[in-house]
Amino acid sequence: MPFSLVGINANRMVPSIFKNYKYVPLEKTMTFNVNGTPVKVDVEARFNAAIALVTAKAQKGKCNDYFRTLPRKVSLLDVINEGPIFLYYLAPMKGYGEDVVPLANTAGRDIGVNISYLASNDPNGLACTLVHELAHVAGATTDKEAPAPENLAAETSLLHCGCSKLFQKESVGRIYRIDTGWPSRYV
Ligand SMILES: [Zn+2]
Repeated sequence: MPFSLVGINANRMVPSIFKNYKYVPLEKTMTFNVNGTPVKVDVEARFNAAIALVTAKAQKGKCNDYFRTLPRKVSLLDVINEGPIFLYYLAPMKGYGEDVVPLANTAGRDIGVNISYLASNDPNGLACTLVHELAHVAGATTDKEAPAPENLAAETSLLHCGCSKLFQKESVGRIYRIDTGWPSRYV
């Protein structure tokens, strides 16, 4: 399996990232508060749907060609096939709110995602976020101070990998504020 769901089908020591949020192993089902209603979500199925979309994108020449322009010069398919990618969700450290949690974070081959993607019915957001994070695995900088266009190299992968609608040029270092109506962790 190129993708491992830590806590569901893989065990792994969570990466230490020294931020005000942390990587947390997944649970097969999790309950989220969506617009005030607790919704039980099949987390494994949500990831599998997104992974299927990413795998399909990795068959596309244009997407792979873009990945080959990134510092490691490997295609998206290469990134997926070169070994496991470990997946988690992100949660705030004690004393912080969900507002400190970014959309996703990459540490080596470990990727953590915002729980809003797990609570969403649409696998496209999670799939495109994984593409962005896999671009970091392919060498795109995470340094938001890097000169343009390098600072946008990961996000630009969306334009080449069937995710244009989700492209955000202000994505660099972006953190979602959790406002009313945005799903938050229920328990
Ligand atoms: Zn990024």
